[in-house]
Amino acid sequence: MIGLLRAMGVTLKTMLRKPVTVQYPDAHLPISPRMLGFPALLWDSAVDEPACVGCKVCERYCPTDCISVTMKDNPLAKEGKSTRRKMVDDFQIRLERCILCGICVEVCNFEAIAMTDYHEQADISRGGLLATKDDLFRMGRDFQQRAGIKVTPGTPKLEAAAPPKEGSA
Ligand code: SF4
Ligand code: SF4
Repeated sequence: MIGLLRAMGVTLKTMLRKPVTVQYPDAHLPISPRMLGFPALLWDSAVDEPACVGCKVCERYCPTDCISVTMKDNPLAKEGKSTRRKMVDDFQIRLERCILCGICVEVCNFEAIAMTDYHEQADISRGGLLATKDDLFRMGRDFQQRAGIKVTPGTPKLEAAAPPKEGSA
């Protein structure tokens, strides 16, 4: 009898408890500040230009070869408005191959890329999983605003290293 009452008590308690789940995708639970999502490109709002100079270091170090970068001359440098002589021309990440390792962020000498909390990238085609430069800046700028990250033209880090691939074993 006592066991039955205890069991009824557990049932009643559970019935009165607030739900801990939500109806995804209409509703979302809050994301933990420690959530690790896809990498995105950061924006230097002081100069109003990308922080990325298109140096390709992240492309060379990415273990899954999912980054593709090209570089161009920076027109603002010619006008004396920026200290970045080069800037990113095109930047793509194949998100279906990204393993969220953060190596691209670690090796970037210009603090131009960051791991964000973006994680909902499901799509029915491979093409839908290709993050273009515009996608990466949109993700990065939104994340910068929420996380309060500011980027300024900086001195390259001293630990800049040689590319790790082909014949480096
Ligand atoms: S997080 Fe890792 S796998 Fe993803 S793009 Fe960066 S280096 Fe490549
Ligand atoms: S390492 Fe940094 S600056 Fe160089 S291409 Fe990658 S994100 Fe841009």
